[in-house]
Amino acid sequence: MKKNLVFLGILCALSMSYGQNSLMVSDRLLKSIDPVYPKIVLTLDSLYNQITSGNLNSYFFDTRRSNLTQAILNRYLTPEFNSETSNSDKTAQLINLYPIDKNKYFASIAILEKGSDVRLAYVIDLLAEEIDSKIKLSCPLFYHTQKWKHEKVGKINYYYQDSLVSSRAKLFNKKNNVIANKLGLSPEEFSFYMCDNEQEVLRLLGISYSKSRSGQIRNGFGIYDNLICSIMNNEDFSHDIFHYYSGEINSSKTRNWISEEGIAYLWGNAYYTDDQGEMITFDRMINSLSEYVIDNPDDDLLSMFKENKKILSDLAAEVSVRSVISGLLANEVEQKVGIDGILRLINCGKENYILDYLKAVEELLDIPTKDFDKKVRELVLTF
Ligand SMILES: [Zn+2]
Repeated sequence: MKKNLVFLGILCALSMSYGQNSLMVSDRLLKSIDPVYPKIVLTLDSLYNQITSGNLNSYFFDTRRSNLTQAILNRYLTPEFNSETSNSDKTAQLINLYPIDKNKYFASIAILEKGSDVRLAYVIDLLAEEIDSKIKLSCPLFYHTQKWKHEKVGKINYYYQDSLVSSRAKLFNKKNNVIANKLGLSPEEFSFYMCDNEQEVLRLLGISYSKSRSGQIRNGFGIYDNLICSIMNNEDFSHDIFHYYSGEINSSKTRNWISEEGIAYLWGNAYYTDDQGEMITFDRMINSLSEYVIDNPDDDLLSMFKENKKILSDLAAEVSVRSVISGLLANEVEQKVGIDGILRLINCGKENYILDYLKAVEELLDIPTKDFDKKVRELVLTF
């Protein structure tokens, strides 16, 4: 009973000191006599205040998982808190807290939005561990996956529940080496968690519910802190491996994302799987575009490129015809000018990204915009 009073005292102080951004605690949890609970609540409250201010720092995080935990919160939460909805319209409540091991606890926080009615925006799960009398927080990925199988394929540590498709894993490991080497970098090691879909990715990372991701299944996660969560349980993450290595050597100020997406399609894949769960390769995208061009001879390829209409949805709804054309032109640049040309193409500017890109194509391949349709048509049909 005395401990209960201490807990309640801390919670009163907490709500007085932080005002409306304070973490509320569900009634059942207030009845706990565990002496660590008040410390966890105070730490989570401070974290919530950091989230609302858009200024996360590493003080509360377990040093072993600090980068990843911050990356997850920044990726899924911080943009929302810095967006159009004001923080004063949000409240947070600790809805679950229970011990999972000695000095280790599992906590869930619900974030609610108040408008004409109250809506659930997020449920965030975090592990809380008492280390040297301090509470350290981390994402629950490693807790959720501690009984998963592990297999190392080259530089990739795969973690999975049932089985691994070895051919895809070997292909990804090979592409990791090839793409890094092409850009003059050493291939890195990655931890790769096989997830059925985006909802499983989110749950493992500690986002049990996200209003903005509700119903979404197609995306994976990464690469943050050398960690990847698969796209629709596929072992090949080579599209984003290219973006990852490119980001290590190219400045965000000059990176042109038409070039980036094209090279990611060409060296990696479309990022998305087809309805059989297979990654869509560049060859398949070009075949599909070539069939479209033959069937629609009057369609102008420059307009197709600029408008980026969804004409390749037979492969997957997300496939971009602009990126397929960009991949085709990147292939020409790589063959004719080499990696120096690829780097110039990536860094051609982003202020007016379509014009900057077309200018680079003219400079690198001697294809003026007035000849774009004719030249690209030839390339599509002869690839
Ligand atoms: Zn991409």
